[in-house]
Amino acid sequence: MAAKYTIEEIFEKTKAHLKGRASVDNPRLEAEYLIAHSLKCNRIDIYLKYNQIIGEEDLNLLRTNLARRAKGEPMAYILGTKGFYKNDFSVTPDVLIPRPETELLVEEICKIIEKMNWENAIIADWGTGSGAIGLSLLTEFKTLKAHLVDISPAALQIATANATKIGVSDRCFFINKDIFSLAPSQEHPSVDIIVGNPPYIPVGSKDVETWVAEYEPKEALFSGEKGLDHLAAWINKAPHFLNQSGCLALEHGFDQAQQVQDLFCNQGFVDVYSIKDLSGYQRHTVGFKK
Ligand code: GLN
Repeated sequence: MAAKYTIEEIFEKTKAHLKGRASVDNPRLEAEYLIAHSLKCNRIDIYLKYNQIIGEEDLNLLRTNLARRAKGEPMAYILGTKGFYKNDFSVTPDVLIPRPETELLVEEICKIIEKMNWENAIIADWGTGSGAIGLSLLTEFKTLKAHLVDISPAALQIATANATKIGVSDRCFFINKDIFSLAPSQEHPSVDIIVGNPPYIPVGSKDVETWVAEYEPKEALFSGEKGLDHLAAWINKAPHFLNQSGCLALEHGFDQAQQVQDLFCNQGFVDVYSIKDLSGYQRHTVGFKK
């Protein structure tokens, strides 16, 4: 007969197994997430049901999930969800995991929408992935509409599911296209705001964490020798899709702000500025079509 373990025993073992792993900052918290997910309970239940024996099936699932995490797979892919801004987004390895620094881009766009009175505007989220940026803006402004564009059909499926889950799908248009070959059309007319988090890591960069490169979609991360291929192409394309005074706001690498600002200015954007992430790096650049 298989050995029986209480939640308390398993909690201790799980924490010990995670401790010291390169990608694990907080073994206690991660153990809580893995156990709660595998046992389909809330994290607080772990403490409320300390002496409860764990069923064989739940234990097997936990073992599988723990082994995945211990190997370095991001927690978000194991849980299938990631909190971003004000919602939980479904994520799979087909989409980049939404990052906290990208929430600052959402906040900046919110400020711009309020200042410009663009609450009824149409926006575009290029390279939407899970839909985190565009869908967050739709939850914030109830009359906003969004075109969500992605080269990956699998990513667009996730974005569609997230739009439904969050309750904004009636204000979304999904476009399965590569921005490089996108042309203004009925499907994607001019908009007031284009926002995006393109791939911007130089191919072969040593700065990228191993688990990011190993598990997250490469086409959402890497872009040419300097990481600027997508940024340059998107900045060149954007004026064709923006209304007059329309805004382009893009995330980029921590050391790319100057080059990105130059690309904006070369395309005739005005009032160009960059905003800093929580570590003090200029991480997002904004500009307006003249
Ligand atoms: N911020 C991500 C990282 O550094 C990269 C995201 C991107 O290339 N758009 O892992």
